[in-house]
Amino acid sequence: MSSTTSYIFPAPEQPSVPVRGSSARYAVARIFCVGRNYAAHAREMGSDPDREPPFYFGKPANALVESGATIPYPPMTQNLHYEMELVLALGAPLFRATAEEAAAAIWGYAAGLDMTRRDLQNAAKATGRPWDTGKGFENSAVISDLIPATQCGAMDKGSITLEVNGVVKQRGDLSDMIWSNAEIVANLSQFYRLGPGDLIYTGTPEGVGPVVPGDEITGQIEGLTNLTLTIGQPQ
Ligand code: MN
Repeated sequence: MSSTTSYIFPAPEQPSVPVRGSSARYAVARIFCVGRNYAAHAREMGSDPDREPPFYFGKPANALVESGATIPYPPMTQNLHYEMELVLALGAPLFRATAEEAAAAIWGYAAGLDMTRRDLQNAAKATGRPWDTGKGFENSAVISDLIPATQCGAMDKGSITLEVNGVVKQRGDLSDMIWSNAEIVANLSQFYRLGPGDLIYTGTPEGVGPVVPGDEITGQIEGLTNLTLTIGQPQ
C-alpha cells in the first residue's frame, strides 16, 4: 500500500511501545503469550509442568496499554486476574531458528501484565473452546517501556515480583522459567515467520489472583522499568 491509499474509515492507530532513551517507539504487529512457563504456576493451575512443551495464545496488538494507566474493570467477568511477565520484543526476521539465532533476534525487554478474565478462561478450558474472550480483551496487555538488550543484557535471570496495594502476591526469578527466552523464540519460530513488531509475553510465576476496582498493581523485574496499573470502576 502506498502513502496515498485511502480508507473508508480512518486507519486504526498503530499500536506501539515507548523505548527508554529514545524518542522513537517500537511499532507492534502481534502479541504472542506463553502458557504455563513456570513450574509452580503450572501446578497451581492444575497441570504437570514436566510433561508439557510450550504452548501459545495471542492477544490483539490493540490490547496494549502503557504502564501508569488506569483501566476500567472489564465487562463480563467477576474474576479479573493479574499475571506478571517478562516481555520480549523481536528485532530481526526469524523462521525455524536455533536457540542461538533466536537469542540474537531478541531486541529488547519490558515488564508486562497478562490481564486475564479467569472465569471466562476457565469456562473455555472446561468446554474445549478458545481462550480469546478470557485473554484478548481491551487493555489486557499492560507493558512498561522497552529497554534494548544492548543496555540490559539477556534477562535470563533476576527477580520478578508483583504487589497489589503494597502486598507481595507474586515473587519468582526469571531463571525459574521452564523454557528460556531463546528456547521460546526458537520454538515459536517453528510455527510463525517472526520479526520486528512481534512481542512475546513469556509466562507468569505462581501467585496469580484477582483484583477489584481501586486496586493498584506494581510489578518489578530486576533491571527493567517498574510497571504500575490501577483498576478503575467498570464502565
Ligand atoms: Mn500469562
